[in-house]
Amino acid sequence: MSGAAVPLRRLGVFGGSFDPPHRAHNALAHQAVEQLRLDALHIIPTGEAWHKSRVLTAASHRLAMARLAFADLPKVVVDDRETRRRGPSYTVDTLTELAAEEPGVELFLIIGEDQAKSLQSWHRWQAILQLAIICVAARADSSGARGTFNAELLAQTPFQVLNLPPMDVSATDIRHRLANCQNVAPLVFEAVARYIAHHHLYQTA
Ligand code: ATP
Repeated sequence: MSGAAVPLRRLGVFGGSFDPPHRAHNALAHQAVEQLRLDALHIIPTGEAWHKSRVLTAASHRLAMARLAFADLPKVVVDDRETRRRGPSYTVDTLTELAAEEPGVELFLIIGEDQAKSLQSWHRWQAILQLAIICVAARADSSGARGTFNAELLAQTPFQVLNLPPMDVSATDIRHRLANCQNVAPLVFEAVARYIAHHHLYQTA
C-alpha cells in the first residue's frame, strides 16, 4: 500500500551568544519562521564561543534571557545543548546531532550577514553546507548603513536571504549602554531589561 509522502520537518537553527538577546534577534527569528515556513526554530546559545575573545555572561543567565526574549514566538524553543557540551561550541556538531536525532529533517541555519562573511573560517564549514541551507539576514553597520552581503563568498552555496530590513542593534552596543547607565529600552524587551537589572548584569563594559 502506498501512502502519501510525509513532508520533511523544516527545522531552523539560530545560534549566538545572546549576551544579551535583543530585538533584532527576535525580529530575525520571527521572519525566519514565517518566510522559511519552519515547523520549529531552535535558539541555541553558545557554550564556549571559539570565535569571541570576551568572556561570556554565565550560560544560565543567557538561557534565561533568551527564554524571555523569544517567549512571544510560538514555534521557537530555546535549546541548551551547546551550553551543556564540553569544549568549543561548533555549529557543525550541533547540526550533526540534530540531523541524527531526526533522520531526514531539513535544517536551515539562520545567521546574520557579519557571520555569513566569516563562514569560511568556521570549523568544518564545508560540512555545515552539506548539513543545512544557509539563510542570511542583512545587518546594518554601526552607522546604520545597510550592509552588502558578499554573495560571491558563498557563490557555490545554496543560501537564502531573509527579507527583513537591517536593524542597527548589537549586543555589544547594549552592553556598553548598560555599563554607562544609558537607556536600552528600544533595543531589548522589557522582560529582558528587568532580568538584567534584577541580576545586576553588564555593570561594566
Ligand atoms: P555581539 O555584539 O556581542 O557580537 P550580536 O549582537 O552580534 O552580539 P550574537 O548573539 O552574537 O549578537 O548574534 C547571534 C546571531 O544573530 C548572529 O548570526 C548575528 O549575525 C545575528 N545578528 C545579531 N544582531 C543582528 C542584527 N542587528 N541584524 C542581523 N543579524 C543579527
